Amino acid sequence: MRIKLVEHNPLRMKAEAYLARTSPHGAPPHAALRMLRTPGALAAHPPKRIDLPDRPRILAVANESTPLLARLLAQACQLQIVPSAARVLDSVRDPDQQPDLILLDARAQAGLAVCRQLKADETTRSIQVVVITDGDDPAEEARALKLGADECITRPFRLDVVEARIENQIRLKRKHDQLDRHANQDSLTGVANRRCFDLTLDAEWRRALRDGQPLALVMVDVDCFKQFNDLYGHREGDHCLRRVVKALSQVLTRPGDLLARYGGEEFAAILPATDLEGACMIGERLRQAVMELNIPQRRPDGADRVSISVGCAAAHPSANLGCYSLLQTADDKLYQAKHSGRNCVR
Ligand code: GH3
Ligand code: MG
Ligand code: MG
Repeated sequence: MRIKLVEHNPLRMKAEAYLARTSPHGAPPHAALRMLRTPGALAAHPPKRIDLPDRPRILAVANESTPLLARLLAQACQLQIVPSAARVLDSVRDPDQQPDLILLDARAQAGLAVCRQLKADETTRSIQVVVITDGDDPAEEARALKLGADECITRPFRLDVVEARIENQIRLKRKHDQLDRHANQDSLTGVANRRCFDLTLDAEWRRALRDGQPLALVMVDVDCFKQFNDLYGHREGDHCLRRVVKALSQVLTRPGDLLARYGGEEFAAILPATDLEGACMIGERLRQAVMELNIPQRRPDGADRVSISVGCAAAHPSANLGCYSLLQTADDKLYQAKHSGRNCVR
């Protein structure tokens, strides 16, 4: 089997996105099927190395069909096999380590229960779930689909159907991911957009309230940026914003921190479990990181390079205090920084 996924360029996606399917050795599918059914056949004909730009990650639960599926999938995908359905949930906790697709067996203990749990949890819902069901029990397939499975493959396997169903699910996952990126990412700088910022601030505020932790917000505004554009042009301005964002991102190392484009040349960092002292420390590091970029700018205020002003705020959320108050305070502090001569943290 050969899964070829092409990086989706939105403008050329329709023309370029395609899946090329061939058997492992260029043989027609029925020949590949025979080979896979013959013990040791694949060992004698090792699969070709397939060069995929982004090999899909598949997580499967070990059962008697996994050796067969492993042979089918391992060459085109990064395949991880866990010993039980219950272990699937442990393996998907870290959002950065999540697979694209999970293969569950309806017959295995907790197989369908795990399917239901994956689809009920907001953090795992977007992983494609394919359930292996028995061909002689059609009701099992209906049960799996009702519990949220994205697709089923039935035993005994027709390997060409298995290939096609898994490829389709991977393709769907890629499309979902792309839509998700467009909905949440700023296209110029690649960081979270305003929509994502608003949703995250609200969620982190509620989480901090539950956990009894402080939440910090750091607002950043590029100084005299209108003049930068007027002097060097918008293209240079865009380039400068990208460099500034890269430098800011490198300062934020905790996995829970979020840097977003708040609007124009304004950025905001949400820092969970951080007090005001920590926020000011990060604010100062952000300021220094931009100074170290050393982007020349002949400024009307006499400065010789691009700088930022920073406003920091932190709060312990309470039931009668909304996250708007945190935003307001950080914005006031940013205003103070601007009025204290810019290139400073307040
Ligand atoms: P201050 O130091 O007070 O913040 O001054 P400023 O000039 O940075 O602030 P002002 O709000 O007057 O101008 C912001 C400028 O940022 C205006 C706009 O041309 C520029 N800007 C906003 N978004 C973009 C963008 O995506 N690309 C480029 N090149 N410029 C942008
Ligand atoms: Mg500005
Ligand atoms: Mg501004």
